[in-house]
Amino acid sequence: MRVAVINSGSSSLKFKLFDMSTNEVIYSKVIEKIGEKNSAIKSHSQALELIEVDLSTIEIIGHRVVHGGEEFTKPTLIDDGVIRKLEELMHLAPLHNPANLEGILVAKQKAPNLAQVAVFDTAFHSEMPQEAYLYALDFELYEKHKIRKYGFHGTSHSYLLKETAKELNKEEHELNIITLHLGNGASACAIKNGKSIDTSMGFTPLEGLVMGTRCGDIDPAIVLYMQRDLGMGRDKVDEVLNKKSGLLGLCGSSDIRNILAQDDERSRLAIDIMTRRVKKYIGAYMALLSRVDAIVFSGGIGENSAYIRERIMDKNLAKDIPVMVIKTNEELEIARQCLAFKDSESKNNFS
Ligand code: ADP
Repeated sequence: MRVAVINSGSSSLKFKLFDMSTNEVIYSKVIEKIGEKNSAIKSHSQALELIEVDLSTIEIIGHRVVHGGEEFTKPTLIDDGVIRKLEELMHLAPLHNPANLEGILVAKQKAPNLAQVAVFDTAFHSEMPQEAYLYALDFELYEKHKIRKYGFHGTSHSYLLKETAKELNKEEHELNIITLHLGNGASACAIKNGKSIDTSMGFTPLEGLVMGTRCGDIDPAIVLYMQRDLGMGRDKVDEVLNKKSGLLGLCGSSDIRNILAQDDERSRLAIDIMTRRVKKYIGAYMALLSRVDAIVFSGGIGENSAYIRERIMDKNLAKDIPVMVIKTNEELEIARQCLAFKDSESKNNFS
């Protein structure tokens, strides 16, 4: 059984083909700079033409979709109705969903009869309790405009749960764990009895931990101050919060390797602020979970930097809780979810 996974970004298309009998990648291609000035590749459709795989030999294509809103809480077979709903959801994730949808449209055009399934980054968090996902705002903002915490990186947190269960020889539903996906984007997740009950990213991926270029938690009144008193326009504020803050804003680099090499005062401060934030979330999630079976580090930073892991897990935090490092694999998780979807749908004439 061969499952392909497409992760379509605004200027990139990542394609992986898995042999699901071995979980191995049998073909992989990353096409970048799509539509950029001086790039020979003008469109996602043209990018897909560069994939040297006969799509008729594939069982399913899984597509990564960042935001599923409240509507999509599990892998979903893509048809015209789903495409229309994804178009409606565009405003919730303007940076990601349009590009994800573009990948879906070009793949549907190229292989109209192939089963294509959308797998959502928000889905793993869709069963969070209301007290976790509601902000203490005027209730109407939730009711009318769906402003709430959705959480992201769900595919990664879900993969980490499965791998932790394997390593600890337990069923997923037996586990209470804290998963930390620390990459350029970063999020923490509290998993109770195998389900996400809280996570650090929110309505958008901006909330929570200090990231490469995103600020994470701040006083929301700062945004008003920037606009009202500093005269910064909406797009400028957006750019500052998402692209010029976090580690980059604090010390001039978003890459932990550079920051550790720089070893100046601001770089040390950036690491102090970043690790302290993760520590605070771990403490909060320990309180929510009461029993914690493992704390799991992942993502480029979590997997590779023993120093950062040690800075976060200083000796008084979670003394008796096992700390694990697991390399995440979001594409394999998407492929697995597609396979599970096919199995569950096979009774209903899934083609
Ligand atoms: P993304 O969120 O873009 O998928 P990754 O999960 O690949 O990002 O993480 C990228 C980050 O991982 C880099 O910015 C870098 O800070 C960090 N990283 C990668 N390798 C190392 C390493 N050996 N030591 C410390 N940090 C690393």
